[in-house]
Amino acid sequence: MTLLSPIDGLVDKLRDQGFKITHPRYQVIERVADRDANFTAEELAAELAPVGRATVYRTIKLLVDQGLLCRVVLGDGSICYRSSHLAHHHHLVCLSCGATEDVHLSDVEAVIDRVRGATSYEVVSHRIEVYGFCPRCKGFQSEADITHLHLH
Ligand SMILES: [Zn+2]
Ligand SMILES: [Zn+2]
Ligand SMILES: [Zn+2]
Repeated sequence: MTLLSPIDGLVDKLRDQGFKITHPRYQVIERVADRDANFTAEELAAELAPVGRATVYRTIKLLVDQGLLCRVVLGDGSICYRSSHLAHHHHLVCLSCGATEDVHLSDVEAVIDRVRGATSYEVVSHRIEVYGFCPRCKGFQSEADITHLHLH
């Protein structure tokens, strides 16, 4: 049994959908395929400067549309991207450091199903991010609170 590398998996999925994988597109996919951390479109464009910003942005959009990348709205409203593990999910986002975790929220899906049943809209998607402080930042956060208490 051969295991596909992340890059081959993504390229195969896009080819299956009938997309042509040009060399610049391949370079973008290669950069994002096994990336763990969040990244912004600007960061990626800077890393792939010879590829050209427009191609980087269009390829990111393609990967998001195909469910291969997640678009995450951080606490300050800025947008970043992260690899998607394909199954529908939501994100827990740290307001302090931007750390992001995937979460499955079955109750939310049940609510969306009720909305689907109760409206004449064709409901196609929804977006819910849950914001808070990650375990690491939560510590700093309470230290900051203690300092605050001592000062006032
Ligand atoms: Zn995600
Ligand atoms: Zn954090
Ligand atoms: Zn959902």
